[in-house]
Amino acid sequence: PIIPAGPVFHNPKHFPDRIAIRDRIAKYTYANIFMSANELSKDITKFCNGRTNERVMFMCSNDVNYVISLWAIWLSGQIAVPLSSLHPKNVLMYYANDCNSKLLISAPEYAELMNGVSVNTSSTLHVLDDKLNLNCAQKTFASQSDLEGALPLSFYDGSNALILYTSGTTGAPKGVVISHKNLQSQITTLVDAWKWSPNDVLLHTLPLHHVHGIVNALLCPLYIGAKTIMLKKFNANTVWSFLLGITAQPDDRKTNVYMGVPTIYYKLVDEYHKVFKDDPKMVEHIKNTLKNKVRLMISGSAPMPMTLHEKWLEISGHSLLHRYGMTECGMVLSHQYDSERIPGTVGVPLPGVSIRINEETEKNENPKIILECTNLDGEVIFNKKNSSEEHLKGELLVKGEGVFKEYYNRPDATHKEFTDDGWFKTGDICEYSKEMKQFKILGRKSVDIIKSGGYKLSALEIETKLLLHPDIKECAVLGVNDEKWGQRVAVIMVTQSEKELTVDEIREWAKDKMPNYWVPSVLKIVKEIPKNAMGKVNKKELVKAMV
Ligand code: ATP
Ligand code: MG
Repeated sequence: PIIPAGPVFHNPKHFPDRIAIRDRIAKYTYANIFMSANELSKDITKFCNGRTNERVMFMCSNDVNYVISLWAIWLSGQIAVPLSSLHPKNVLMYYANDCNSKLLISAPEYAELMNGVSVNTSSTLHVLDDKLNLNCAQKTFASQSDLEGALPLSFYDGSNALILYTSGTTGAPKGVVISHKNLQSQITTLVDAWKWSPNDVLLHTLPLHHVHGIVNALLCPLYIGAKTIMLKKFNANTVWSFLLGITAQPDDRKTNVYMGVPTIYYKLVDEYHKVFKDDPKMVEHIKNTLKNKVRLMISGSAPMPMTLHEKWLEISGHSLLHRYGMTECGMVLSHQYDSERIPGTVGVPLPGVSIRINEETEKNENPKIILECTNLDGEVIFNKKNSSEEHLKGELLVKGEGVFKEYYNRPDATHKEFTDDGWFKTGDICEYSKEMKQFKILGRKSVDIIKSGGYKLSALEIETKLLLHPDIKECAVLGVNDEKWGQRVAVIMVTQSEKELTVDEIREWAKDKMPNYWVPSVLKIVKEIPKNAMGKVNKKELVKAMV
């Protein structure tokens, strides 16, 4: 594949006339977008009085305005802070104050909301021209000099690209500072590992304020010269139409790559059951189309229940590629493209990424190293493997070019999350399976590891088992404090047709499926398990609601 040198927005030089984006309004080439971004960047430079490295927030729908704004911020040498309309005003104000942003770019549809943010913070509002997308589609490109930015490429070697906020699953979101070098590394790693090609067409339905939607799903195709179809937001019915090629125009290349969080696949399965399942011709057509026309389907960002993996495989013939990553590191572990994708595992370190598993200690003082390995050009090399350990599990640490340097304005948090020798502590518990030669994520140290009666239980493993129950549709397992046991296993769940289930019934059913001490002794049935913008369950909040 063509892998051009330099940041993503430099690429129009390599493929000016290729279609980069299709949104609900029009199609845009790489040159179209660059030229619009270059114009906007001049306004930003003027506003910043020639200074660089200023934080510039921007709020756009999932369409070409997003890409124009992002490239414009980079072309003017500033740091982009993407905002999401999924957040209420007080959260947006938190971001504005936290990163001390002086400029806020908004698409016309958010002008009113953003004005409210701007008047309450020290950020000046710049509303994009409401014809920006149409003007962009009509830009004509005459020569390579139309595709020159004001700053030399060397500027980007030493500067920061993004501040992305973590999902806030375990506390207040932290601003993760990601340099252009980090970003280059994260993107090139994925482009290679997932075999991106300029002929790919990605269907984009993810929020654009997190690493998943930005790096994996938008910047990878933009880097390689592929096309991205941007839908304003996820809708199961629309996504099915695109996946089946129903919505494509005759001259359109059709979707062949899709990425989602587990909740997205859950909703697609639900829709399939409602609309297609009883039509045998359609069932056959879906399997054939997805199997033959779509080359890659990926899931990540939250644990994927094995039962859902199996259901998706049955419907689509696709064994989903699972990957594990986080805002601070980009992608870390991934199933290999050509290898078997074993459900319940998240593969091995991506090329160039090193990982370590440390013994999980209470105080975190000098933990023993249980395993250390790195992926060199596709081959996983173990530097250390403590073969005396029966279970190779503990806290996951990461090192690599893609790993961030600091949380914005939080030197204490940064210091706390890195070891003295520069490894980033993920806070996730990970296990290496010697038989499968694959890594598994057992959950977050802070909420998913339940300490009950001297045992350390993985909430994710219990969830996997419970989902085998025919009446349990969705569940979240939690540890609630208990005087006698330290913690007790609790579960919040959605049942089929809101069926009532009792602890005793589950205990009876679970007899031959899991140890007795795994079975939840506290149970709550709900209509829906609340999730944040990234489809993640905030277990700390759920525990509060439980007691
Ligand atoms: P915060 O750090 O603010 O609490 P967060 O950790 O959810 O929020 P992100 O950086 O968006 O913010 O998410 C990274 C986390 O998501 C990982 O640390 C891990 O717990 C979880 N995660 C990501 N991918 C997977 C996966 N494939 N399986 C299980 N968990 C995953
Ligand atoms: Mg986190």
